[in-house]
Amino acid sequence: MSSIDEACKADLVFVNGRIVTVDEEFSVAEAIAVKDGLIKVVGSRAEVEPWIGGGTEVVDLEGGMVLPGLIDSHIHVTGTGALLQNVVCSTPPVQSIADIADAVRMRIEKAEPGEWITGRGWDQVKLSDHRNPTRWDLDHVSPDNPVFLKRTCGHVAVVNSRALEIAGVTGDTPHPVGGRVEFRDGEPTGILEESPAMGLVSRYMPAGDFEDTVNSIKTAVKALNRDGITSVIDAGVTATTMRAYQQARREGGLTLRVNYMLSGRLAGETGDESAKRIGNFPMSTSYGDNLLRFLGLKLLIDGGIGGRTALLREPYEGDLENRGILTMPVEDIQKRVDAANMAGMMVGIHCAGGGAIDTVIDAFVETDKISSIAGRRYCLIHAYQPTEETFQRCRELELVVASQPSFLYYLGDSYHENVGDDRSRWLKPHRAWIDHGVVVAAGTDSPVTPYPPFPCLWAAVARRTEVNDIQMGTEQAVSREEAIRMYTINGAYHTFEEDIKGSLEPEKLADMIIIDRDILTCPLDEVKDTQVLRTVLEGKTVYKA
Ligand SMILES: [Zn+2]
Repeated sequence: MSSIDEACKADLVFVNGRIVTVDEEFSVAEAIAVKDGLIKVVGSRAEVEPWIGGGTEVVDLEGGMVLPGLIDSHIHVTGTGALLQNVVCSTPPVQSIADIADAVRMRIEKAEPGEWITGRGWDQVKLSDHRNPTRWDLDHVSPDNPVFLKRTCGHVAVVNSRALEIAGVTGDTPHPVGGRVEFRDGEPTGILEESPAMGLVSRYMPAGDFEDTVNSIKTAVKALNRDGITSVIDAGVTATTMRAYQQARREGGLTLRVNYMLSGRLAGETGDESAKRIGNFPMSTSYGDNLLRFLGLKLLIDGGIGGRTALLREPYEGDLENRGILTMPVEDIQKRVDAANMAGMMVGIHCAGGGAIDTVIDAFVETDKISSIAGRRYCLIHAYQPTEETFQRCRELELVVASQPSFLYYLGDSYHENVGDDRSRWLKPHRAWIDHGVVVAAGTDSPVTPYPPFPCLWAAVARRTEVNDIQMGTEQAVSREEAIRMYTINGAYHTFEEDIKGSLEPEKLADMIIIDRDILTCPLDEVKDTQVLRTVLEGKTVYKA
């Protein structure tokens, strides 16, 4: 091995570390060498030594830990970028509805007359008021500028009176199909549930221009790299956003591998219109390269448990009339799924509640009769409440699950309140998924919950809520090793890329991160606070603390 030609020597070598390879045996190595963006050898210092030449950057890790670059398997990149640029309504820093109004007021001081003020992030459970804001809470700070704020989940919005006026929403406005307008004493409160209702107002908002989208992508990519993310699945984007990605790449602002999924429903589109657009779309699964790749179709058919819009099998706590919302008719789900299937696309569907999971499984079983979906890694997104039958169907159809352990931490308090103690113990049962042989990939769904991966990874093990420190069913906890797999190799599997990334093995892409602690042995709660020291994408450093 000592006869490696100088020209073939490594570009980058890490020595004296704890390199978590995430190979089959989950082995931990001492050193790693990278050449031309690929891993050449992982092993002992002696094995790596021959690769060190005059031009090699040698990093002494001093015992530090290295992981494969992390993969967020369900995220919204432009939404994440926008969140970093708009009114922040999340807790912390916001503690009350008055704080939200304050944040809006501060934003208006910099705004043009009549400019729309947008923001996101509140969770009523974390507010001292313990309720959703209404239009009346916002009117005194913004009588003239329309305001549109989304709850943290993105399924509920509050708008002020000016926005309702622009949209013509009054006490006489009927509930749109698949959505709810909240009324009190015959007047709209400003709360709009699910996109058909939010769309009554949002359709009057000026669409951000193309450059805004490119900038949101660049902002998000930088932030994600800083926290150790090297790959994502961007779930639910338009053709325009796909073009914006290409623009960001040309301008050198894309240091993140993206598998994007096409939105299954654009605003106002009927089932037939969507099916036609999907059928004519010029990409099928895996088209692209290692940086930008097309994964498939993303659909959304219910809401979230925090906002009581996820479609459950049973009613919400203290509200026997409410099982949640199915956001599109069953036949329209089928039309879209079938169109994608015939177009060679993988399909991933947001189905939070058990009722929604059952609906999706039915649609997958139906479409499987037209053209088999086995091995095509069709996906249940969120899937909080599987049953034995769900597990069995997942095995038969070879489905994967994109789950967000971070929800248990950041949103768990509202789940506990909305479905009670018993049911909340079974939400996102990662242990059961894994034990039933289903591949689960982890993510944050940012901007639904914050994108930093270590609180999310920790939550898969700890299953405790942020505000009241409630245990969300320890029997469903996974090990640290499993949590790391969910954030690496399982994500790579989801996108059919397990042969090129997701673990640190020879000839795989050199995507890796150095972190500031040993997350396999440190006290569990310290996993959450892990910081990234360096992020490497294809052998190049894209972030350094
Ligand atoms: Zn999402």
